[in-house]
Amino acid sequence: MRRTGDSKLIQELNRFIILDMIRKHGPISRSEIAKRNGISPTTVTSAVGELIRDGLVCEDGIGESSGGRKPIMLRFYPDGQFLIGISLTNTAVTIAELNLEANVRHKERFAYDKPLSGDDVIAYLFASLEQFLSRYDDRSKCLGISIIVPGIVDAANGAIRYNSKLNLKNVPLKELVEAKFGLKTWLENDANAIALAENSFGRGTHSDNMLYVTVGEGVGMGIIVNGAIFRGHNGGAGEFGHTVVQQTGTRCDCGNIGCLENNVGWPEIYSRILSAHAKGKQTVIIELAGGDVTRISPALFRAALQQNDQVCLDIMEEIAATLSIGIVNLVNLFNPSLIILGGEIVRDNPLFVKRVREQVMDKALFILTDGLEIHATALGEEFPMVAAAAVLLQDVFHFSL
Ligand SMILES: [Zn+2]
Repeated sequence: MRRTGDSKLIQELNRFIILDMIRKHGPISRSEIAKRNGISPTTVTSAVGELIRDGLVCEDGIGESSGGRKPIMLRFYPDGQFLIGISLTNTAVTIAELNLEANVRHKERFAYDKPLSGDDVIAYLFASLEQFLSRYDDRSKCLGISIIVPGIVDAANGAIRYNSKLNLKNVPLKELVEAKFGLKTWLENDANAIALAENSFGRGTHSDNMLYVTVGEGVGMGIIVNGAIFRGHNGGAGEFGHTVVQQTGTRCDCGNIGCLENNVGWPEIYSRILSAHAKGKQTVIIELAGGDVTRISPALFRAALQQNDQVCLDIMEEIAATLSIGIVNLVNLFNPSLIILGGEIVRDNPLFVKRVREQVMDKALFILTDGLEIHATALGEEFPMVAAAAVLLQDVFHFSL
């Protein structure tokens, strides 16, 4: 019995290696795959047969001969199967169909018409998913569903341990979705998933030790250590937003005072804009919002920065300085080779990234800044969906670049 198990495992490993080689180096011939990997031609032929049957690989023309018969070339076929990516946030459920290169083929956003909490969130997710999946008569080509959500996630068991804003505690979401929809399901924390996506498809493909930091409503982080997500004991590693940068200030959702996210997140930026306006300082953002302060958004903040608005520039400087203190601590703790900045405050905001980079390079231990790169995310607009896809693809195919 043991022998059967071993040979099955070897067969499966060969299949991964061969698929990965075709994906990265295709078009490529069967004999070239055998030669490059030291796998026998018979094994390659039978594994390729399976991959073609599963719709993962296709034959694509005739290659150059190195003596004998001209070889048939093989390439990865990313549209032979698909997956469903879901992003569950405080404001909406977004669901998309993606191919195996994490390209979005169809997407729908189901926005909440009132704030949802607890069981109502899960009921809303199920209703949205049911509606989305109703377009598929045949789900046999669907690899499964990958859900990303903020908060503390037990990825191994597919459970949301804690999400304060949606009031979710110990929800076995993977089990619930699998039971209702009959599709294999993955669950991951959103920042972890984005870090993984940066590591698989984005800027971090050559970095085994990298951090992804997101600044928007709150501050989150995904940590890649030695090429894998670092989760900590309870799946809560990376609560960067709740690291303490002040001994005073407003009380945070987490119960503490002086948390980083209350000093650099969008609500803080927004309140600083309002207080500058109340003091009679002139700022273009009021005009950009059509005189309606409730319409002031991160996008308008970025637009005001582009117009060199002094009030917004001053606020950005203060925010960048505080965030830099946190990131200096991260550099000194993790010694990453790459830090990627994302989130609504950072996106399309090169000046902000530049100021953070300058201050971190200046203040972190000089040995640790040697070779350190700090960049804005390159994942593009569909990053939550790409992140969800990366979780599934990494697990099913061990896809990485
Ligand atoms: Zn906190």
